[in-house]
Amino acid sequence: MLKQQRAKLVVGNWKMHGRLAANAALLQAVVQGSDEMPADVRVGVCVPSPYLAQTQLLLEGSRVAWGVQDVSAFTHGAYTGEVAAPMVVDFGATFAIVGHSERRAYHRESAELVAVKTQRALEAGLTPIVCVGETLEEREAGSTERVVGAQLDEVLAKLSVQEAARLVVAYEPVWAIGTGKSASSEQAQAVHAFLRARLAAKGAAVADVPLLYGGSVKPENAEELFRQSDIDGGLIGGASLKDQDFLAICKAAAATSVAG
Ligand code: PEP
Repeated sequence: MLKQQRAKLVVGNWKMHGRLAANAALLQAVVQGSDEMPADVRVGVCVPSPYLAQTQLLLEGSRVAWGVQDVSAFTHGAYTGEVAAPMVVDFGATFAIVGHSERRAYHRESAELVAVKTQRALEAGLTPIVCVGETLEEREAGSTERVVGAQLDEVLAKLSVQEAARLVVAYEPVWAIGTGKSASSEQAQAVHAFLRARLAAKGAAVADVPLLYGGSVKPENAEELFRQSDIDGGLIGGASLKDQDFLAICKAAAATSVAG
């Protein structure tokens, strides 16, 4: 099959890491490195919300986009501790990760809640990065497609075709996140192809939404993953905290991009 000519996208998920001084050094290095990327490689970082102002200050006018790792299912109100999507937009952010497996597991976020958060992010003008993924038990039981399909369907069911076309979807097998044990490029491609078909079934305009792979992506395995026909880039956790590693992963995306 001919390789699809889609742009690449690499987004860092800092999780609950960072302090002002370390962030500044990391963001400055990423800005510098991203200047060398071809135009069809987009780079982003999703930072802890308290650092949005700092991130905006350091990234505004650069090639690097920024965002958050979660948004509230509400627009405003008595929801102590929550951060609403419009607040995030006030700081120039464009991305919001929703449905990360750590939130599904540790904060008991249901597929339905993830779908509502996706709607709130879209309404505010953000690009939701919707994460789906199976546990090791689910993979070993042969349930991967059923699990990720149901997670995606719950979101798609709440969206119009036009809204769904604005998504980014990240396949993040839970057993590969932060474990050092990445899915093989064949395993990842198989799930991405399945997700691509599911997206296409929603409407032709949805078929080409960026599909990112996440789960122990490192400089050593990034290029092979990104060469797969349905893998449009990566959502990078641990390696996004090290400038050299993150930029090496961005370079791998550039090597596999159309212009690269
Ligand atoms: C993530 O947290 O989204 C992730 C993919 O983590 P890691 O790269 O560390 O596995």
